[in-house]
Amino acid sequence: MNDILPEQVRRWHQLEADFRLHAELYGYAEVRTPLLEHTSLFSRQMGETTDVVEKEMYSFERHGEQLTVRPEGTASAARAYVEHSVHAKEPITRWYYLGPMFRGERPAKGRYRQFYQAGCEVLGDAGPVCDAEMLDLIAGFLRRIGVPDFTIHVNSLGSAGTRGRYRDKLLEYFTPLRDRLSEDSQRRFERNPLRILDSKDPRDQEAAKGAPSILDLLDDDDLAHWKGFLHALDVLGLPYVVDPGLVRGLDYYTRTLFEVKAVGSDLGAQSTLLGGGRYDTMIESLGGPKVPAIGFAMGLERLLTVIPEPPPRRGPGCFIAPIGAAAADRALLLARELRSFGVRVELDGRGVKLKPMLRRADALGARLCIILGDGEIERGVVTVKDLVGHAQDEIPFEGAARVLADRVSEPSPDISHARGLR
Ligand code: AMP
Repeated sequence: MNDILPEQVRRWHQLEADFRLHAELYGYAEVRTPLLEHTSLFSRQMGETTDVVEKEMYSFERHGEQLTVRPEGTASAARAYVEHSVHAKEPITRWYYLGPMFRGERPAKGRYRQFYQAGCEVLGDAGPVCDAEMLDLIAGFLRRIGVPDFTIHVNSLGSAGTRGRYRDKLLEYFTPLRDRLSEDSQRRFERNPLRILDSKDPRDQEAAKGAPSILDLLDDDDLAHWKGFLHALDVLGLPYVVDPGLVRGLDYYTRTLFEVKAVGSDLGAQSTLLGGGRYDTMIESLGGPKVPAIGFAMGLERLLTVIPEPPPRRGPGCFIAPIGAAAADRALLLARELRSFGVRVELDGRGVKLKPMLRRADALGARLCIILGDGEIERGVVTVKDLVGHAQDEIPFEGAARVLADRVSEPSPDISHARGLR
């Protein structure tokens, strides 16, 4: 779990603002759900035999309830959708969320125990165009934030019947190879053979090389959906890779599945920026009506690793350097007035000599340094040092805030140092 210090938080704010703006362009509105849910929500929806549920959840008992700090956002959003009967209020719901998730995984670069996800969910639209449009949203967002290169991987898991038939086929295929699988896969063998395809263990990956493809088993409706999805991706001009080995870790998926991977990043095994898919049966299994749904979640830490650093933070518009007690009093009021004009101000209240205060103003990259000493008080002025243009003058104390506010909003005389603008 990471501390995120202010220099970094700036990048987070930017990324989050970009995500909000982009999701709203596609008609999504933010939903906020609690960090805690009943453990059964995750174990039932994500699946008892998934890594997250088996090993990674932070779960505890309190006041007679089994609770879990959320490891993902989809199950919570679906629970909220059912609990508030949202289906009765609107036929299609588009929600996005943003926030921390918790999984007790083995930490690595791009893999943490508290990490942040942003995600979108559409509830009430079963059609394949909806799936393609979600990928359009994603690709547009990744381009907007400057992800240099990425690939979209797609697959279909079919509906429940298709999955049942696929499960049987996989059991048949893996049975002679069973002894060569990882311990986890041997243990889950009968309950969840699909998980073997998703395993990171090299023994499982080797055994899965010749596994049958689920795409060969799709029924007519699944196939129509799959083809409609690929057609809409083609219309949108989104390149994709069909990847029949893509099953993703969770039980709730049906039909469309996708992942987006960063190309050429140093994230190694953690290059998957985001993943998602349909979960057409979840709402019903939570006690709601039959409402189809699709969603995705992306890891913000991973995105921040692959996007460019923003320019350094601009300094304050004004830095105020008072010398002596009387000046300190005036400086307090001047700072407040300047801020009421929207100017970012740092007041040096340390009571030190001018030199260290000027050093601090320079280090902050302030546009103007306002010097107030006994001489200035006697003359009823303040000294204004333009740290960008390197000019210095005096202006009357009376009305100084207005004049200074105007100055910091003017373009800097030297645009290569244009960080001192208001
Ligand atoms: P998942 O919910 O497992 O499908 O993950 C979706 C996305 O969330 C991944 O592609 C990652 O970008 C991110 N993610 C998942 N687990 C972690 C983690 N432990 N640390 C950082 N990011 C994660």
